[in-house]
Amino acid sequence: MRTLFRVLATVAASAVLTAACALPLARGSEPARKAVFIILDGIPADVVERVSTPAIDAVAAAGGYARAHVGGTIGAPTETPTVSAPGYMSLITGTWAYKHNVRGNSNQAPNYAYWNLFRIVELADSTKRTAIFSTWLDNRTVLIGEGRADAGNIRLDHAVDGFELDTVAYPHDAAHAWVLAIDERVSREAAAYIAEQGPDLSWVYLQHTDDAGHAYGDGAAMDDAVRRADAMVGRIWDAVRKRESMGEQWMMVVTTDHGRDARTGKGHGGQSERERTTWIATNQHALSPRFTSGAAAIVDIAPSILQHLRVAVPTAVANAMDGVSFLKPSPRD
Ligand SMILES: [Zn+2]
Repeated sequence: MRTLFRVLATVAASAVLTAACALPLARGSEPARKAVFIILDGIPADVVERVSTPAIDAVAAAGGYARAHVGGTIGAPTETPTVSAPGYMSLITGTWAYKHNVRGNSNQAPNYAYWNLFRIVELADSTKRTAIFSTWLDNRTVLIGEGRADAGNIRLDHAVDGFELDTVAYPHDAAHAWVLAIDERVSREAAAYIAEQGPDLSWVYLQHTDDAGHAYGDGAAMDDAVRRADAMVGRIWDAVRKRESMGEQWMMVVTTDHGRDARTGKGHGGQSERERTTWIATNQHALSPRFTSGAAAIVDIAPSILQHLRVAVPTAVANAMDGVSFLKPSPRD
C-alpha cells in the first residue's frame, strides 16, 4: 500500500513537473506563427521587375522573389482563365477552376467543396483570428462565402471592405482615382490593424493597378500605379516587422493574379505567356527549387501558408489541392 502510494505520488509529482516545464517551454520555444498575403491586381512580371519597388524588394531581400504562373496547364482540364476572381479563388483554395468553378468576375457559382484558407484555419482552431482588407467586397462574401452554410458557415474576425459601394465617400470618376483612394484606405487600415492586433491570417487585396492597366495599358500611368501599390505594401511590411520584433514569426506573400497582353498591356484573360506569367515575393527564405526555378503557381501559395502556420489540414482537403508548398520542410513539419 505504502509502496503503491509512493509510486503514485512519484508519477503525480513527475506529471506536475512535466506540466510545469512544458507550459513555459511551449510558450518560450514556439513563437506565434502568422501570415498575410497581398494581391496587387494585374501587374505583369516584367513590369514589377522594371519599375522601382523598394518595398517589394525589401520583402524579397528577407526571403525571395521569383516568377510564377496562373492559368493552370494549357489544354488540360486545369486550364483557368487569366482573370481576377478565378485567380483569387485559385490562391485561397489551392485549386484550379475545374475544381473551384470560378471562371469570371460575375455570376459566380463557387464550388465550396474545395475549402479556402480561412475555412481551413477557422475550423482547425476557432481561436485563430482572421482578417480581410479588400477593395472588392465579393472576395469575402462570394469567394470565401462568409456565413454560407455550404462554405462552412465561417466568420472572419475583422473585415475592412465594401467601400466601392459607398459612392458618396468614393464617387466614381473616369480616371479611377476612387479605386486608388480605396486602396490607400484599405492598406492603411490593414497596416494599423496588423501592427496593433497581429491577426493570425490576413488577406489584403488592392485593385488600382489593374484599373490603370485596363485604362492606359503599358506605360507611365501603369508604372506610377505600381509605385503607389508598392508604397502600400511598404506600410504592411512595416507592420509585419513590428510584430516580428515582438517575437512572432510571420510569413508575408506579395503576388498578382494575372499578367497582361503583350501588345497593349490593357487586356488579360487568355493563355499567352505574358498573361500567364506572374510573380511571388515572400519574406520566407527556406524556399524550394520549385519556387526559385520559377515553377511555382498561384495554387502553391495556400499550401505554403498552411505549412508556415502549422495548421492541421483535413486529409481530404489537403489531397484535393492542386498546389504544393514552395517552402522547404522544417524540422517540425
Ligand atoms: Zn485581376
